[in-house]
Amino acid sequence: MTGRVAVLKAYGGDFELREYPVPEPEPGAILIRLTRAGVCGSDLHIWRGEMKEVYGGLPKDLTFGHEMCGRVAKLGAGVSVDANGAPLHEGDRVTFLYFFPCGRCPVCLRDEMGSCPRKARPNRVAGTPPYFNNAYGDYYYLRPGGFLFRIPDEVSDDIATPANCALAQVLYGLTRAGVRLGDTVVIQGAGGLGLNAVAVARDMGADRVIVLDRVGARLDLARAFGADHTLSLAELTTPEKRIQAVMDLTGGFGADMVADFVGYPEVVPEGLRMLRGGGCYLEIGSIAPGNVFSYDATALVRGNTRIVGASNYSPWALGQALSFLRRNLARFPFARLVSHVYPFAAINDAFREADWQQRGNDGLRISRAALAMTD
Ligand SMILES: [Zn+2]
Ligand SMILES: [Zn+2]
Repeated sequence: MTGRVAVLKAYGGDFELREYPVPEPEPGAILIRLTRAGVCGSDLHIWRGEMKEVYGGLPKDLTFGHEMCGRVAKLGAGVSVDANGAPLHEGDRVTFLYFFPCGRCPVCLRDEMGSCPRKARPNRVAGTPPYFNNAYGDYYYLRPGGFLFRIPDEVSDDIATPANCALAQVLYGLTRAGVRLGDTVVIQGAGGLGLNAVAVARDMGADRVIVLDRVGARLDLARAFGADHTLSLAELTTPEKRIQAVMDLTGGFGADMVADFVGYPEVVPEGLRMLRGGGCYLEIGSIAPGNVFSYDATALVRGNTRIVGASNYSPWALGQALSFLRRNLARFPFARLVSHVYPFAAINDAFREADWQQRGNDGLRISRAALAMTD
């Protein structure tokens, strides 16, 4: 039996679908038949070659993709429950971490598995056994020690697909930053991460959520995800005006928390100035290297400012992300976060169109693409 893997030969070019033998799971491993894979902003960065410094030059044959869900095809010996302790059977719908905290280092022992310096990342060189190491393939081979969760029946594959990246990371970040009941939270950027953050902040008990973006359609969506106030960069054209708008909405004191989901370094000093004394700035948006900003360190001291970064997440966050989705299915329009679903065989169209939409000067990209692996 063989399955397809999408292999990239040149940055910005076409993928080629290659067949590889489907492996038998070793003891402790799980073979998953993927049903969906997401095209995330960081996948577009990799495809364009903007992550070369992180991942090295293009290997001969690159394979990647990290947002996905599927069904258990085969359980290795000794696997009978998911990471929550729920019984696991072949055919169950599942999602899982795409990285592997070691669980045995001083960082993991401090309950910081999301920051594990030894965490293993997926092998991105195509043709490396067990072949199915990433999302853009018919199968995924979850090695022993991976963290896998059953997807609640009520949560569709389309809605569950970004849970193991955007949603889990947002939930982890807001928890690390310490959102509390009654907080006023400012979200910079209403893309996929920012919209998830609006809904999660709401669910965590934020009293008011203020969202900034340039695109009206995104701000509309932010309101559907629970934003109380939306501030348009098209109308508030300078940082001073936007900072003033936040101050006006907070009685002149500033927000308890400001979170960056934009990824341009200029937004950081602006967001820091929107904080109240003792407030917290959460940085999640910057993923490509070189995002340098400048700020007066004395202002951080005088402001008793906390700054929290969040990359990846600890395994609990994915379990919580799935409960969050089940709990809020009727409350927020999660289905609107995936705008285009392509068959796996059309992966080249999916990347080109997602790239075009993201780069387009109209800035109208309000949501994202996904691949249906079984169509
Ligand atoms: Zn992602
Ligand atoms: Zn570790």
